[in-house]
This record gives sequence, C-alpha cells and structure tokens, in this order.
Amino acid sequence: MFSTRVAISEINEGADGFELTIRPEDLKLEYKDAIFESPVITIVESHRTGLEITLIVSVETTIGLVCARCLEKFDFPFRSAFELHLKGLKGGQRVVDFVEEDFAFIEKDMGLIDLEERIRDEIILEIPKIPLCKDNCAGIEYTPSDEAVDPRWLKLKELKQK
Ligand SMILES: [Zn+2]
Repeated sequence: MFSTRVAISEINEGADGFELTIRPEDLKLEYKDAIFESPVITIVESHRTGLEITLIVSVETTIGLVCARCLEKFDFPFRSAFELHLKGLKGGQRVVDFVEEDFAFIEKDMGLIDLEERIRDEIILEIPKIPLCKDNCAGIEYTPSDEAVDPRWLKLKELKQK
C-alpha cells in the first residue's frame, strides 16, 4: 500500500498491525547532503479500545549520507519509532485541536489519519547530525606524496644526490 493515510474505520479493536511502504518522493524529504532513494517502510502497531487508539509507528529506510570524517558517501540504515495517541469524541464538538504534538482528538467527521508530516518530521529530526560511515572511521587518509613536499626540500634532495 503506497500511502501515508490510514482509515480510522480499518483500525481493528484490540491489538493489530499493518505496514505502509512510502515512496521517499511522497514524503518530500529534503536534508543537506542526504539522498533519499529507498522506500520508507512504516510498520504500525495499533491498539484500539473503542474510540481510543494508540499507534506505535516504526520507520525504516536507507539514507545516502556523507561521512563527516572521511567525506565518503555511505548508506545509513535509518530506524526510529514514535507513538501517536488519538481519542474519539462523543457528542461531536466541532472545535478540537492538538493537545500535544502526538495527541489528537478524532472528530466525528474525521475518517483518515495522515502520517505524512509526522513521518517526515521523525526522519529529519532523527537523521544523524554528524554522520559517520562507521564508528571508528579514521577520517581522510593521508598519503604523503612528492606534490605535498615543499619544493625547497626537493632542491636539497637533488643536491644531496649529486
Ligand atoms: Zn568515514
């Protein structure tokens, strides 16, 4: 299912789960030096008791990053999770807003949950700020070459060889 939307009516009572495969272009992901080409696999574990719904959302993808030490490109295995809490309202009051970031009231005329923005935020917030291709990356390899040698030393070398 290529979508970021979940129908509230399709979330079963009790514990359930489903998986969404989202194209990175659908999330409009943008981050400095990062390349988003892999699908974003989103595994959702749902717990529903009547009008109260908790969604535990795990996000997995591969992001092309540039190592901060050796400046090589590498594939970063991104993995993060967050929880969303939704509560349905009986009585159909019209004006209800987000109480907190990850808590929302479902109004009578709301039928879909759109995870797009929340998943995008999660990836952009959790992307490593100092990406490393491996924990012990040694950085840029230094290979001494003649080019790096001060020409005055080369002159000396020539003199010595004479
Ligand atoms: Zn590196």
